[in-house]
Amino acid sequence: MTRKQASVPRGIGTTMPVFAAAAGGGVVVDVDGNSLIDLGSGIAVTTVGNSAIRVIEAVQRQAELFTHTCFMVTPYDSYVRVAEQLNRLTPGDHEKRTALFNSGAEAVENAIKISRAHTGRQAVVAFDHAYHGRTSLTMGLTAKNMPYKHGFGPFAAELYRAPMSYPYREAPGVDGVAAAHRAISQMEGQIGAGNLAAMIIEPIQGEGGFIVPADGFLPTLAAWAREHGVVFIADEVQTGFARTGEMFASTHFDLVPDLIVTAKGIAGGLPLSAVTGRAEIMDAPGVGGLGGTYGGNPLACAAALAVFETIEEDGLVERARVIGAALMDRFEALQRSDGRIGEVRGRGAMVAVELVHPGTTTPDPALAKRVATEAHARGVIVLTCGTYGNVLRFLPPLAISDQLLGAGLDLLVAVFEDMG
Ligand SMILES: *Cc1c(COP(=O)(O)O)cnc(C)c1O
Repeated sequence: MTRKQASVPRGIGTTMPVFAAAAGGGVVVDVDGNSLIDLGSGIAVTTVGNSAIRVIEAVQRQAELFTHTCFMVTPYDSYVRVAEQLNRLTPGDHEKRTALFNSGAEAVENAIKISRAHTGRQAVVAFDHAYHGRTSLTMGLTAKNMPYKHGFGPFAAELYRAPMSYPYREAPGVDGVAAAHRAISQMEGQIGAGNLAAMIIEPIQGEGGFIVPADGFLPTLAAWAREHGVVFIADEVQTGFARTGEMFASTHFDLVPDLIVTAKGIAGGLPLSAVTGRAEIMDAPGVGGLGGTYGGNPLACAAALAVFETIEEDGLVERARVIGAALMDRFEALQRSDGRIGEVRGRGAMVAVELVHPGTTTPDPALAKRVATEAHARGVIVLTCGTYGNVLRFLPPLAISDQLLGAGLDLLVAVFEDMG
C-alpha cells in the first residue's frame, strides 16, 4: 500500500487494503495468504468466477494464435460469433447488430452516438441515481457528484435528467405508471420529445443503490419513447449476463430495448463491452463511423464465448435465482429484528440492504461504512453503493458454493449483531 500510494494517484481508491494473489470459486486469496469470501465479483464482473476453466482455456488457446490484429484492419471470426450470440441472447427477436468496445462507458458513449446518428436529434435523458460511467460524456449522464463528477466539469451539452421510480422513497400513492408520467411530463416540458435522441436507463440501477423501479415504470417510458421516435437504451452493464436471475434484467419488466449496452459480466474479467440493438438503428452511422483500436480484442472475445457457454451449460441463470433467494431470506430475517435495515431488495444475485436510522427512512451512510469495514476485517468482500452511500450491495460470483455463501452471510449477520 505504501508503494501504491507513492506510485498511483489517490483518485484511484481501493475498497480494501489488500493485494490479490489468486482468486476463484468465490474466494480471493491475498498476498499474505488470507482467504476472503467474495460477495462483490470485482463489481459484478466475475459472474462465472475469477478463473473459470472454460475462460482460462479459451484465452490461453487464443493467446497462442494471436493477441491482436485490429478488427477494423483484418477481422476475425470470434468477434462475429460474439455479435451473433449477443443478437440471439438479448431480448426481442427483431433483426439486430452488435458492435464491440472495451469498457462500459465506451459502449454507453457509442450507444449515444448511434442514437444521434439514427434520429438526427441531440438531446439525451438519463435518470436520478443513474450511473453510466466516468468519461466526459458518461460522467454527465451519471447522477452522483461526489466522487464521480466533482471538479471534472464542464459536462457535455444536451444531457438532461428525469425523476426515477424509487419505491422505498416514493411519495405515497405514486405507482410505477404515475412515476413514469411524472418523468414524461418533465421531459415534454423541459426537453421536448422531438429534440430527444435517446432515453438511457439501467433497468435495475447499480451504483445508485440497486433501485428496482416500480412495476409499470419502464414499460410506460418505453411505450412513450417508441411513440415519439426516441431510442430507448437499456444500460445493462451491471445487470446483464444472468446476474439478476434472467439473462438480462429487461426481461423482468417485459422490456425490449431498442439498444442494450453490456460490459462487466460479459467476459469473465477481460475488458469487453457491447452495444446490441435494432439493425436499422445500429446501421445509422456511416462506414468507419464506429470502432476503436482494441474494441472486440480477440482474447476478450474468446473469453466472452466461454462465458456464454458457461452460463448456458452450468445453468447460471437458475443459479442466480437460488443465490438470490438465500441472500433475501437471510437479510429479510435480519430486518425483522433490526430496525436499521430499511429495505432489502433486488433480483437474483443482485441484492441490496438499505441502511437507515431506526424508525425513519433517513439514510445512515456511516453505518454502511462501519459494517463494510468490519466485514472486510473478518474476511468478507462487501461493497457499498447508493446516492446516499447507505446501501450494502451483494453480487456474489455465481460460481460460489452454497457452503461458502452461507459462511459469508453468517459472518455478515454476526457483524450486524455485534454492532447492535
Ligand atoms: C460500471 C458501469 C458502467 C461503466 O462501465 P466501465 O466499464 O466502468 O466504464 C456503466 N453503466 C453501468 C450501469 C455500470 O454499472
